Amino acid sequence: MAYFCGMNTRELFLRHVGQTSPSPVALSITGAKGNYLHDERGDRYLDLIGGISVCNVGHGHPEVIAAVQQQAEKYLHVMVYGELVQSPQVTYAHELVQHLPPSLDCVYFTNSGAEAVEGALKLARRVTGKTEVIACNRSYHGSTTGALALIGDEYWRNAFRPLMPGVGHYEYNSQELIDAVTHDTACVVIETVQAEAGVIEPRFEWLQALHHKCTATGTLLIFDEIQCGFGRTGAMWGFQHYGIVPDILLLGKALGGGLPLGAFVAAHELMYQLTNNPVLGHITTFGGHPLSCAAGLAAFRVLASEQLVEQVKDKEQLFHSLLKHPAIKAVRSKGLLMAIELESSEMVLATLQKCLEKKLFSDWFLFAAHCIRIAPPLTISEEEIAEACKIITSSL
Ligand code: PLP
Repeated sequence: MAYFCGMNTRELFLRHVGQTSPSPVALSITGAKGNYLHDERGDRYLDLIGGISVCNVGHGHPEVIAAVQQQAEKYLHVMVYGELVQSPQVTYAHELVQHLPPSLDCVYFTNSGAEAVEGALKLARRVTGKTEVIACNRSYHGSTTGALALIGDEYWRNAFRPLMPGVGHYEYNSQELIDAVTHDTACVVIETVQAEAGVIEPRFEWLQALHHKCTATGTLLIFDEIQCGFGRTGAMWGFQHYGIVPDILLLGKALGGGLPLGAFVAAHELMYQLTNNPVLGHITTFGGHPLSCAAGLAAFRVLASEQLVEQVKDKEQLFHSLLKHPAIKAVRSKGLLMAIELESSEMVLATLQKCLEKKLFSDWFLFAAHCIRIAPPLTISEEEIAEACKIITSSL
């Protein structure tokens, strides 16, 4: 069309859609079904990252699509969050808490993971009356200004100073972090499994000791499971591996079944404090959108009905057994959250490019650019895992 000045969709994307990546992959997507993305040239790509841990039940699952269609027929947005009883929110919150420990019985739905982090920080300060926050080096919790203050890398936060004050950063798994928790600390925010650091697990004893210190000092322990929740690690929730229940749980990504949704989950008596002093302690127009909740609920039910979480361990093992190559320095994983460590970030980028040419779509990590990310839909089949590993090893 003349109106487009002869530019194709990719060129329009680069010209008119706000970019922050200096080199976006820029495939023109025309469809996504199951474990594959389709582009306008008619090629299909095996998706090894599932929209970054979002599409745990695969793309375009018929039950998710049907739930969205049915909800769209009923109503879309009707009122800002928390005033009207909307059954997709209520049913989803109810089913989620059935799968959580009794102390996590109240779900505040947000638009995104970052907004869940913001809400949780406010809740922790409001409930404890304290201001200090402890976070980890090489942690990622979102890109809004509060969440950005938690980001565990000076390169990524420096340009945006001054940041929210009162945040201290310490090494994950370190005694220094535990020692830094005092009676002045409102909350400690950690990823249950660090994702962007290149898949780092907490040491069992460290987490126990951290939990103990938080309890002793009246500090809320916040687990960010935005990336590692919903079966990704081989349990529905990452914290189930370590026998610790957080005071606040952060959810996002797969929570919405492919639509935007986040949540912070806490005990009702904590959450209730956001109703006073001030009233409306967190306000969101679109948080818990009925379409997102309908999609998320359908996807959550698919996780159970297709027993996807139960298959994660075997699929993880299969990846390990097939990812053999002299250039691979290590393969770290917790379930289907995996990092293939190579010699350098240059090697990662070159390998990802070759994989893309062979129709395999993957990515790197923010704080571990020398690692290839593997976080496929949990629906990935054994044949697809074999194919993916063949492409990766032949691209190295
Ligand atoms: N927390 C973690 C661990 C994440 O991986 C992300 C996003 O990648 C976020 C928070 C922020 O979520 P969102 O991008 O939905 O704001």
